[in-house]
Amino acid sequence: MERGERGHVLAVPYPSQGHITPIHQFCKRLVSKGMKTSLALTNFIHSSIKSDPSPFVPLETISDGYDSGGFMAAENIHDYLHRLRSVGTETLAQLIRKHQSSDNPITCLVYDPFLPWAFEVGREFGLTVAPFFTQSCAVNYVYYLAHQGKLRLPIDGLSFLEQQDIPSFISVPGSYPAYFEMVLHQFSNFHKADFVLFNVFQKLEVEETELMSKVCPVMTVGPTVPSMYLDRRIETDNNYDLMLFDMKDSEFCTEWLNEKPQGSVVYVAFGSMADLSRAQMEELAWSLSNFSFLWVVRGSEEAKLPSGFLQTVDRDKSLVVKWSPQLEVLSNRAIGCFVTHCGWNSTMEALSLGVPLVAMPQWTDQPTNAKYIEDVWKVGVRVKEDEESGIVRREEIEFCIRQVMEGEKSREVKENAKKWRDLAMEAVGEGGTSDVNIQTLVSMVKSLKQKPSLQAS
Ligand code: UDP
Repeated sequence: MERGERGHVLAVPYPSQGHITPIHQFCKRLVSKGMKTSLALTNFIHSSIKSDPSPFVPLETISDGYDSGGFMAAENIHDYLHRLRSVGTETLAQLIRKHQSSDNPITCLVYDPFLPWAFEVGREFGLTVAPFFTQSCAVNYVYYLAHQGKLRLPIDGLSFLEQQDIPSFISVPGSYPAYFEMVLHQFSNFHKADFVLFNVFQKLEVEETELMSKVCPVMTVGPTVPSMYLDRRIETDNNYDLMLFDMKDSEFCTEWLNEKPQGSVVYVAFGSMADLSRAQMEELAWSLSNFSFLWVVRGSEEAKLPSGFLQTVDRDKSLVVKWSPQLEVLSNRAIGCFVTHCGWNSTMEALSLGVPLVAMPQWTDQPTNAKYIEDVWKVGVRVKEDEESGIVRREEIEFCIRQVMEGEKSREVKENAKKWRDLAMEAVGEGGTSDVNIQTLVSMVKSLKQKPSLQAS
């Protein structure tokens, strides 16, 4: 550290895999630029880690009030969020206080805006505060308008978004009231933050970042895919190393893929939370049987597979696993396309690694991401649901997979996938938009004096 340059960033993600990963990865970028950075996880998440976490980002803990069971131990999501707020506020304050007597106290709080109370804690201690949005700018702009009571279709500047493309918490009113409240609450205090970080890159969302910049100081810092998959400047950043799922089942995925011809395997994964219906699992299973596939079926989803299906899977041709090393899989030359639920991390990973997509959105921000995949970035196709049943039929899934794997459409999709990969590499590479923003943030945090604190005694 240079003389006179200090500063310590504490990052606090929402306690789920899809939120911890990008914020942890962002921390690694900060560390690589000489910024002292720590990551605070809930006690339950900390005890659930199945991998060896990076030694470069020290872990700290706070509590969500459910130390031995986390979210699953709560009665419902409403109770969980309520307790997370009260116990989280108290334990985050304790953690910051503990560091105050160290020789490098926390000066900047990067927090997940799903936890808007973290902003208040940071301000009480006179810290620089910056929310880190783990979803796209488009999605957040829609939520912002909804929070302001100004959401009307068509949206000025995003007129191509139709009802079925906006996040499900809005398009399906009343579907998840507690989550809906949470995504809107992100905007209760964000305009008072010092910086507002987005896990996107500028060229991916040019209009969207401009629209957002009119209401807050936007800094694009993505994609948060490990450096060794993109700019290759941080040798130690070669994987996600904060996994909450057991990797033992996934070890042989790469060996298995290495035996397969280029572009021949359909990779299918729906992230860490999606909950498909039995009928949908059945349609998916029988559509996949026409291809060589690698399908991630989490333990909690296994019972929904059609009976006898697993026995029909010939391991020379196809594989079903409980969890995969997704980055390794997506970067394997054998992968021809990715059938995805369009979670933001999976979407960014596919864009960063140049993999064509079949978009099969389920809920939350996924319909919006699917719209961008098909019509804006043009890196894939989106399946159509059967109007009567709401299920995507096996013929439709098979048709969409063939469209991105074979023929005319697949050429366009593959070219675009390559283009976005190049732009993602450019953004995080030296002098790229995200790289410059991260460097600017580091320089500012290092030079900032701690603001007068109410709790500094
Ligand atoms: N993932 C993985 N192995 C799997 C399935 C998912 O490593 O078998 C990772 C994936 O790479 C991504 C995250 O889990 O980083 C899922 O995040 P996403 O935002 O796509 O979906 P969510 O789980 O939040 O719905």
